[in-house]
Amino acid sequence: MGAVTALWMMLQTVLASPALAQNSSPARNNTLTYTELLERIESGQVSKIEIDPVRSVAEVYLEDQPRNTQPKEVTLFTGDRNPELVEAARQNNVDLGVRPSASSGAIAWFVTHALLAFLIIVGLLMILRRSSNASGQAMNFGKSKARFQMEAKTGVMFDDVAGIEEAKEELQEVVTFLKKPEKFTAIGAKIPKGVLLVGPPGTGKTLLAKAIAGEAGVPFFSISGSEFVEMFVGVGASRVRDLFKKAKENAPCIVFIDEIDAVGRQRGAGIGGGNDEREQTLNQLLTEMDGFEGNTGIIIIAATNRPDVLDSALLRPGRFDRQVMVDLPSYKGRLGILQVHARNKKLDQDVSLEAIARRTPGFSGAELANMLNEAAILTARRRKDAVTMLEIDDAIDRVTTGMTLAPLMDSKKKRLIAYHEVGHALLMTLLKNSDPLNKVTIIPRSGGVGGFAQQTFNEEMIDSGLYTRSWLLDRITIALGGRAAEQEVFGDAEITVGAGNDIRVVADMAREMVTRYGMSDLGPFALESGNNEVFLGRDWMARSEYSEEVAVKVDQQVRAIATRCYAEARRIIREHRGLVDKLVDILLEQETIEGEQFRKIVAEHTPLPERQLATPAVS
Ligand code: ADP
Ligand code: MG
Ligand code: ZN
Repeated sequence: MGAVTALWMMLQTVLASPALAQNSSPARNNTLTYTELLERIESGQVSKIEIDPVRSVAEVYLEDQPRNTQPKEVTLFTGDRNPELVEAARQNNVDLGVRPSASSGAIAWFVTHALLAFLIIVGLLMILRRSSNASGQAMNFGKSKARFQMEAKTGVMFDDVAGIEEAKEELQEVVTFLKKPEKFTAIGAKIPKGVLLVGPPGTGKTLLAKAIAGEAGVPFFSISGSEFVEMFVGVGASRVRDLFKKAKENAPCIVFIDEIDAVGRQRGAGIGGGNDEREQTLNQLLTEMDGFEGNTGIIIIAATNRPDVLDSALLRPGRFDRQVMVDLPSYKGRLGILQVHARNKKLDQDVSLEAIARRTPGFSGAELANMLNEAAILTARRRKDAVTMLEIDDAIDRVTTGMTLAPLMDSKKKRLIAYHEVGHALLMTLLKNSDPLNKVTIIPRSGGVGGFAQQTFNEEMIDSGLYTRSWLLDRITIALGGRAAEQEVFGDAEITVGAGNDIRVVADMAREMVTRYGMSDLGPFALESGNNEVFLGRDWMARSEYSEEVAVKVDQQVRAIATRCYAEARRIIREHRGLVDKLVDILLEQETIEGEQFRKIVAEHTPLPERQLATPAVS
C-alpha cells in the first residue's frame, strides 16, 4: 500500500511540476511577480487573467495592452490555491478563468509521458524489493531500526525557556552534574540518575530537557514512550537496550523519555492482567537504570502528565527520584514566555505584551508561542510589516476556540471559584493536622477544573500509610472547605456543582474511616478487606461482606463524620470572613498565591498552628 501511494504521489508531482512543461520560457520583461500582479489588480489595470494549472502560471491581460501582444506571465504558488489572487480578482471584477495548457508543445508531451512510464517501472521494482526486504526484516526486528533521535547540539538554552523559574532553578543543578561531576564525586556524593518532569502538555518539558543538554553542551537522545510499545513482545525492551548502549558510548549525555506513562504504568493492574510487552519494556528500563553507576554521566529525564499512573518502582531512589513540577504559567510566566517568542518577531509599538499576558490565563507556553506565530502569519497575509494588536486579538480568538479550556474572563464565575479555592486553602493553613499549602490558583485546567488548592504532602506519611484519625478528619474538613466558603459567602441558593468532586472524595474517605480503619463509634472492626488492586467486581464483592443492618449504621456514621467536618469548615470561614475576602482579592489579581505568601497574609490576622510554622521538609 505504502509503495503504491508513494508512486501515485510521484506521478502527481510530475504532472504538477512546472519545470518539465516549461517549453517556451517567456522573455524576462514579459513577466510580473505575484505581488506586482496583486497591486495591478487593485489599481484596476488588469482586464483578464487566465490560469494555466499545468504550468502554475497566470497569464495576465492588462487594460492598456495593445491587441495581439503576448499576455504577461505570473508564476503562481503550487499547492496553495492562491486565495488572495482569487479574492482580489473577485473584488475588482477581473475576468478570471482557467485554461488547459495548450501551448506546451509536443516535446513536453513526449518527455512527460516517457518519464511517467519510467517512474512506473521504477515504482514497481521498488515494491518488489520492499516485499522481499520485509521477509528478511521479520528476523531481526527491533534491532535494526533505532527509533530514538540523537541531537549532538540542541541549540536550546535556559534563556529560551521562560515562566517556569522554579523548575529551571532545580534543573540548573543537573547542568552542573553534567559539566563538573568531579565537584560532587570528590566528596562522595552520588549524582542522581533520573529526573521526572511532571506537567500538562505544552508547558515546556521537552524544551527544558533540551535546554539542559544545550547548557551542558552534551548530546541529547530522545524517544517517546509510545514508540517503545510495539506489537511484538520484546521489541520495546530491545529498543531500550539499544538506546542505553548508544547513550553510554556518548556519555556525558541526556536521555529524554517523553510520555513515560505509556510504558511506565503500574504493572499488574487492569482487568485480565498486564500487557506483557509493556511490562517487559518497563523491566528493561528499570534494569538499565540500575545497571549504570550514577557517575557515568548519563542523566535520564522523563516527562509525563500522568504521574499518578506510574509504576512505583520507577519513583524509587536511584531511579527517577527527583520530580520537578512544570506548571501552566501564571501572569508573570506568560509575560516571560511572550518576551522569548517576541524576540524574533516584528511587533508594532502599540503591542503590549503585558496586556496579552493578562488576557491569556490558562494558556500554556506552547499555546502562547502558537498564538504569536498565528498573529505573525495573519500579519503577512494582510501585507503589513509589523504585528499589531488587531492580529493578536484575532490570533487569540483563533487559538481559544480550538482549546479545551476557556480562559476565565467572566468575573462572577472567577470570583466564585476564587472563594471556593480560598476556602480550601485557608483550612489547609489553619487546621492543625493539615499538611501545608503549596499554592492556590484559579488558572483553569482542562477537564473542567477552574482552579485548585494544593498541599505539600509529607511523603513519609503517605509512603508508610500511617494516617492518623485527626489527619483524616482534617482532610475531610479541607475537602469541604470549598463548598463551605461558597455557602457562607453566596448563600444556599448560589452553591454550585463545582464541589461535586470534593463531595465524592469526602464520602469515600469517611466511608473508609468507618469500614476499613475502624475509626468510628462502631469500633475497631474492619468491614472491608483492604485490597487496592483493581480487579473485576471489587465493589460488588465488598458490599456483601456485611449485613443490611450494619450497612445502615455505616451510613449513619459516614454522615455524622461529614456533617461534623462541614460545620467546622463553615465555622472557621465565618470567623475569618474579612481575611477570606482579602485573600480572594489578592488571588483574583495574582491568579496564583504561593504557600509562603499565603501563610504570611494569614499570620497577619491570626496565629498559625504550630505545624504550619515549620518550613515544609519536602519540596
Ligand atoms: P511539552 O513537552 O511540555 O508538551 P514543549 O516543550 O514541547 O512542551 O513545548 C512546545 C513549544 O512551546 C516549545 O518548543 C516552545 O516553543 C513553546 N514553549 C512551551 N513552554 C515554553 C516556555 N516555558 N518558555 C518558552 N517557550 C515555551
Ligand atoms: Mg513534549
Ligand atoms: Zn474544591
